[in-house]
Amino acid sequence: MGAYLSAPTWWRNLDGRYRLVLGECEECGAANFPAEGACAACNATDGFTEFEPEGTGEVVTRTVITGGAPPEFGDLIDREGPIGTVIVELDEGVRVPGMLTDCDPETVERGDRVRAVVRRIYEQEGVVRYGFKFRPGE
Ligand SMILES: [Zn+2]
Repeated sequence: MGAYLSAPTWWRNLDGRYRLVLGECEECGAANFPAEGACAACNATDGFTEFEPEGTGEVVTRTVITGGAPPEFGDLIDREGPIGTVIVELDEGVRVPGMLTDCDPETVERGDRVRAVVRRIYEQEGVVRYGFKFRPGE
């Protein structure tokens, strides 16, 4: 089994991930996510050049959340059913967390190919937040 990402951890880390952006290390060229701090490959802190990846990758772990979510997501669960959350290893070699869309999350398995697409995430105080989600298939 891969690393288990608890729901609270997942929610807490969601902000700032509305765009799928990786950072290319200016020292060694490795892709990093998020594009901040030290490079995971070489530990350099020279900075990153941000870029948007292809958005395709493979599911590493999948968790389905049916409750215990903050209110803005609770509404989403009421409306659309359980939320599938995944860690995806992008083809750039970086692991990124995200939500599943356009599928029954229970049918998504480790190793499935997914693609990042832009979707409505939630609505809070009349403001709709958009971000990327992962859809099965290329
Ligand atoms: Zn590096």
